[in-house]
Amino acid sequence: MSRPVNFSAGPSMIPVEVLESLANDMVDFQGTGLSLVEVSHRGPVYDKVHQDTISLIRELMGIPEGYSVLFIGGGATLQFSMLPMNLLLPGGSADYISTGAWAIKAIGEAKKVGSVNIAYDGSIDKFMSLPDPSAIKPTAGSSYLHITSNETIGGIQWKTFPDSGDVPLVADMSSDILSRPVDVSKFGVIYAGAQKNLGPSGVTTVIIRDDLLERSSDSLGSYLNYSVHAKANSLYNTPPVFPIWGIRLVLEGVKTRGGAAAVAKENEAQAAALYQTIDGSGGFYRCPVETSARSDMNVVWRLADEDLEARFIKEASAEGMIGLKGHRSVGGCRASLYNAMTMKGLKRLTSFMAEFARKNG
Ligand SMILES: *Cc1c(COP(=O)(O)O)cnc(C)c1O
Repeated sequence: MSRPVNFSAGPSMIPVEVLESLANDMVDFQGTGLSLVEVSHRGPVYDKVHQDTISLIRELMGIPEGYSVLFIGGGATLQFSMLPMNLLLPGGSADYISTGAWAIKAIGEAKKVGSVNIAYDGSIDKFMSLPDPSAIKPTAGSSYLHITSNETIGGIQWKTFPDSGDVPLVADMSSDILSRPVDVSKFGVIYAGAQKNLGPSGVTTVIIRDDLLERSSDSLGSYLNYSVHAKANSLYNTPPVFPIWGIRLVLEGVKTRGGAAAVAKENEAQAAALYQTIDGSGGFYRCPVETSARSDMNVVWRLADEDLEARFIKEASAEGMIGLKGHRSVGGCRASLYNAMTMKGLKRLTSFMAEFARKNG
């Protein structure tokens, strides 16, 4: 059976070796006679998986001393609420940069918790570009500055990050975590749902500078308190065992490939080839995003009209390439080139695109 090339935005492609390993070990985990998903999360078998996964994240992201790595349920969506609940100082306000659909959701949830200042509003440019990072100055005394490192729906990605000075920089990296090297020491908090670049859905990784844990108030519900999770090494309650196991396998693969820098090189080559196909099509395909802000993770493009787009997506699917429909809120086409995508898979798409343009141009 040949598997389709999966360009879905999330849940998304997972390396087939990882899926095979999960399947092989599902009933009998490494000779223990039991599945990992039916043993105690406080026993030695799961404990090793838990610790190994944290160590791999620390190693591959180069996380310095003084940061905690937490596993929390509820997706990045819960972090939209949890972050302000824990970090917004009493009577204070937080700065948010509005770059598209996901930033807008984060802002909406933060406003339910406290005062929000929009430090930059990308709607002036229909979210097709990003501000110059050096032009971003957080408000003095702001609780934190929040950015979305990659807008999964709009297809824009920060290439360099703003310098927020003494104000902690917080990033939703759900759709580009571990796709490139990042200097974690520049951030107060990084959070990311698993199902784009890391593994199966169900767990969110939160990387937090330890001094910020002191902001979590005892009056918060325990599960909503970062400090509670940190003190318990993410074993305050039953963790999402299956996705954490999946992340470990995915990250072992990333390590074998040479880590974040090697993955970034492969990804850049794939994205460059796809943008070249779009830009070199004589206007048959058009990417609406300003060149400097184009995402290497989620490449978006339009065709002449919606009928032609629908036909493109249908014919691509018949040729074994799936997940190319743009998000329902924006339409068009989108190819997600997360860590599991290969140049071979990408070349299948660019060949198909060239052929489709020839036939229909
Ligand atoms: C997918 C996504 C989310 C939402 O993640 P859930 O796990 O579904 O809550 C948030 N932010 C970004 C940037 C995303 O790509």
